[in-house]
Amino acid sequence: MTTTALLAELERELGPGGIRRGDQIAQRHWADVSGLDPVCPLALILPRTVAEVSAVMAACRRHGHTIIVQGGMTGAAAGAQPREGEIALSLERLNGIEETDPWSATMTVLAGTPLAAIQKAAADAGFSCGIDLGARDSATIGGIVSTNAGGNQVIRYGMARRNILGLEVVLADGTVVTGLNKMLKNNAGYDWTQLFIGAEGTLGVVTRVVVQLQPPLPAVRAALLAVDGTNEALAALRLARQMLPAGLLVFEIMWREYYELAASVEGVAPPLPAGHDGYVLVEVPGPAAGDHPIEAWLERALEEGLIQDAVVARSLADRNAFWAMRESAYKFSQVVAPPINFDISFPLDRMAEAIDRMRAGMPALGPDVKWCVFGHLADGNVHVMVMTPRKTEVKEAVDDLVYGITAALGGSVSAEHGIGRVKRKHLPLSRSPEELALMQRLKTCLDPQGLLNPGRVVDPTSD
Ligand SMILES: Cc1cc2nc3c(=O)[nH]c(=O)nc-3n(C[C@H](O)[C@H](O)[C@H](O)COP(=O)(O)OP(=O)(O)OC[C@H]3O[C@@H](n4cnc5c(N)ncnc54)[C@H](O)[C@@H]3O)c2cc1C
Repeated sequence: MTTTALLAELERELGPGGIRRGDQIAQRHWADVSGLDPVCPLALILPRTVAEVSAVMAACRRHGHTIIVQGGMTGAAAGAQPREGEIALSLERLNGIEETDPWSATMTVLAGTPLAAIQKAAADAGFSCGIDLGARDSATIGGIVSTNAGGNQVIRYGMARRNILGLEVVLADGTVVTGLNKMLKNNAGYDWTQLFIGAEGTLGVVTRVVVQLQPPLPAVRAALLAVDGTNEALAALRLARQMLPAGLLVFEIMWREYYELAASVEGVAPPLPAGHDGYVLVEVPGPAAGDHPIEAWLERALEEGLIQDAVVARSLADRNAFWAMRESAYKFSQVVAPPINFDISFPLDRMAEAIDRMRAGMPALGPDVKWCVFGHLADGNVHVMVMTPRKTEVKEAVDDLVYGITAALGGSVSAEHGIGRVKRKHLPLSRSPEELALMQRLKTCLDPQGLLNPGRVVDPTSD
C-alpha cells in the first residue's frame, strides 16, 4: 500500500518518463560488479533535476519508504545493487558539466556525469583530472565520491577525497545542502562534505561535485622491474622517493603467482622472464626520450640488490606490453574460473608478512585452487583473486583465511571498493566497537528513519 502510494505520488511529481517498471528497466540497473545474482528493482526513479531528487526523498520520508541510490553500477560491494522489492534512484539523467573555472582550477559537475566526460573536459581546458580508474566510461562522479574511489593515480593525487573541494547533497528528508566550495582553504566550521565522501549513499544523495583539477598529464617513462622479495620492492620505492624529484605516477606490483597467470593469457607476452618473486610496473614523469633520472635510480637499485632485473620502455608499444600484464586480471576468469575477489590493504611494514601468510595458507584450500595477488603497492592496497570451480564450497574458508590475515596484521577489509552489502559482516574486523557505534550515531542523526541504502555499510537491515 505504501509502495503503491509512493510510486503514484512520484509519477505525478516526475512525470511518466521519471519512473520505469518491469521490463522498461534496463539490465544495467539490476547488478553492479559484485558478482551477486542480478535483481530487477521494483521501480527505477530517474530525476532530471536536484529539485526532483529532493522531491523523491521528501516523498520517501512521508511514506516511510526506503530507496537505494545508483550511479554507474560499477561498484564491487553491492551497494547500488537492488534486493528483491527495492526501489532504485538513478542519477544517470542528472548529468553534465556546469562550470570549468580556470582561475580556481575546478570543475563543477552534476553527480551522474561519467568520469571519462570529466577527464575529457579537463583535458580540453588544459588540465587533467586527478582521479582515474578502469571503469572511467561508466563510473559516475557521484559514485566515485560516495565510494571514495581511488585508482591508478592515487600515489600522486590521492583518493577521490583529496580531489574534491565542494559538494551538494540531498538529505534523507529532502533538504538540499549546497557547499560548492572552490577554495583550497576554507576552515569555516565543520567540513561536513567529508562525511558524505565514502558514505556509500547511506547518509545522503550526492547531486553536485566540485572537482579540483590538476595540471595536464606529464610525459612519462615506464619501466618493469623484477624483485626477489616484497621488502626489496618497498626499499626500491623508498629509494625512488629520494632520487626522483618529480615523484612517481605508478608503482604497481604483480607477485609471482599473478605474473605466471598473466603470462598464460592469450596475447599477453611477459616482458621479463618469470622466476622472480615479484614484478613492479613503474611510471615516472619526465621526457619520454633522452636522459631521465629513472636510469640513475634503477642503476642504484640494481647495485644495492633491491631489484634483480629491469626493462625501460623505449616505445608506446613497450609501455602497452607492461600494462597488458597488469590489466590481464580481467581475463583470469576465462583462463581459470570466476574469482573470489578481495580488495584489502595493509600497513606497508606488514605487507611482506601478509603475502607470506597467504602463500602459507592457500594450499590447504585444495589442489584445484589457483590464486594470485597484485595491486597498488605504494598505497598498501592489494587485490587477491582466488579461483576454483568449487567457488561456493570454499568461499567461507577463503574469507576466513584472507580476512583473518587482514585483521591480524592491522589491515583494512576494504581498501577502495567500500563495504556495501557484501562486506558488512567483515567490517568489525577493521573497525573498533567505538568506531562502529560512532558510525551508527551519524547514520541515525542524518537518516533517522533508515531510508537510504538499507542493509548497506552499518545499517543492520539484513538480506
Ligand atoms: C573495471 C573496473 C575498474 C575499477 N577500478 C577501480 C579502482 O581502481 N579504484 C576504485 O576505488 N574502484 C574501482 N572500481 C570500482 C568502481 O568503479 C567504483 O566504486 C566507482 O567509483 C563506483 O561508481 P559508480 O558510479 O559506478 O557507482 P555505483 O556502483 O552505482 O554505486 C556505488 C555506491 O555509491 C552509491 N552512490 C552512487 N551514486 C551516488 C550518489 N550520487 N549519491 C550517493 N550515493 C551514490 C551507491 O548507492 C553505492 O553504494 C572499478 C570497477 C570496475 C568495474
